[in-house]
Amino acid sequence: MLDLVIRGGRVVTPAGVGEWDVAVSGEKIVAIGDARALAGDVARVVDARGKIVIPGGIEPHAHAAFKFVYPWAQKAGHAAAGPDVMSRACAFGGTTTIVDFANWRPGKDLFDAIERRDALYKGQSSVDYTFHTVLVGMGTEGQTPQHTAQVPLKLIEQIPEVVRAGFTSVKVWTTNTTAGRPKQMTDFGHVWAIMQKLAEAGGVLAVHAEDEDIVMFMSRKLHEEGRVHMRYLPEAHPSVSEDLASRRVIRLVEWTGAAVYLMHVSAKEVVQALGEARGKGLPVYGETLHHYASFTRDVYETPEGPLYHTYPSLKQADDAESLWRGLVEGRLSTVATDAIVCGRDLKLGGDTIEDTVGGSPAIEERVGITFTECVAKRGMSLQRFAEVVSTNAAKILGLYPRKGVLAPGSDADIVLIDPSIRKRLSVSDLHAADHSVWAGTEIHGWPVTTILRGTILVEDGKFFGAQAGRLLGDRKTPAEVLSGAAC
Ligand SMILES: [Zn+2]
Repeated sequence: MLDLVIRGGRVVTPAGVGEWDVAVSGEKIVAIGDARALAGDVARVVDARGKIVIPGGIEPHAHAAFKFVYPWAQKAGHAAAGPDVMSRACAFGGTTTIVDFANWRPGKDLFDAIERRDALYKGQSSVDYTFHTVLVGMGTEGQTPQHTAQVPLKLIEQIPEVVRAGFTSVKVWTTNTTAGRPKQMTDFGHVWAIMQKLAEAGGVLAVHAEDEDIVMFMSRKLHEEGRVHMRYLPEAHPSVSEDLASRRVIRLVEWTGAAVYLMHVSAKEVVQALGEARGKGLPVYGETLHHYASFTRDVYETPEGPLYHTYPSLKQADDAESLWRGLVEGRLSTVATDAIVCGRDLKLGGDTIEDTVGGSPAIEERVGITFTECVAKRGMSLQRFAEVVSTNAAKILGLYPRKGVLAPGSDADIVLIDPSIRKRLSVSDLHAADHSVWAGTEIHGWPVTTILRGTILVEDGKFFGAQAGRLLGDRKTPAEVLSGAAC
């Protein structure tokens, strides 16, 4: 007997899109096919007629319980939402896997970082989860603004062990982002060494790529000129900075052979650099945020500017359009959020180039906004849509084919999208925070049912999650992803 059948939807698979049934036994998909071929006893049928059926979304970049480094936020006791709130919003938004970050702490090793982060998520998350290990812990105990944050060489030596243990992605920053924060950057000498180790072990480098010299020079210049209001954020984090750092990292891909995942790409020049590198067959993958693609730097001129900000910075209209086009045409591989779920008051708490709060509670809107902008408005195919919200992150981060695909043997992580939904999005439609930068946006299609490993998490606007998300600690990035631009 089958436990669950998703009946009659437009099912999106790598082999094609068709009106099929998806059969689930226990936590796995066991068959996809014609209703007649799946006849027999079924415990539960979900009617998917008129819906689009995709693999559960994968959010490749989120920060639960983010600790704010700004003194005003610490003083007010502000904290970002934890995995419970974040994963519930994921479920409502059609996402069944979160990839968060496990920050290394001085004096400890990378396995300690994973254990501490797992302790935060265990029993709290309604979707499955895993972590990028992070080689410098921002704002971790014992750090001061003077902390030099050099990654110990013995930690670099540990990378192959951690990758082989199933944590295939390592994150670094190439900038300290703002002048006043605890230091987080890794210099290019260390990045080079880390990439050599990743290449040896089959891991992937995840990078926040900005040029430290440009960012710190602009910080100094803007301070001297008395131009520190948040409206100058695009000058503090200009496109040239991302372009330089991204191209430097890509050059190291050629030297080391390591695969690279460029996080939160916001500038059109980086989309261009990705196209060139991928054209040469290099294993270089780009992530953008639907946030950067939806808005421009003009919002910084409004009092609500901080609600829209996330680092590096929002850019111009042609950058935003190049991000959507990059997703549609294949230069960019994934869409993420850099989620930090917090209230409106906190997001509006800082308003300078130093203390404007980054991140946003965009995790619930990710799949639906991408559907609206890419499929409904720009003609993206349903297969490509499944790739950018799910499949590609699964491949790059070593979760495929357990996650990221509707196929027999894969986890029954299944999302139904209703393409007939057309409305203006309102905060009352959402479940993460008290604001959304997409409130008032016309949406066309939205996730309505979310299933994790055969269990329905959301249906008819109701939440049935049970905080039964599991750590995905057995990841392995496939050889074709490591050796060339495979997705
Ligand atoms: Zn981030």
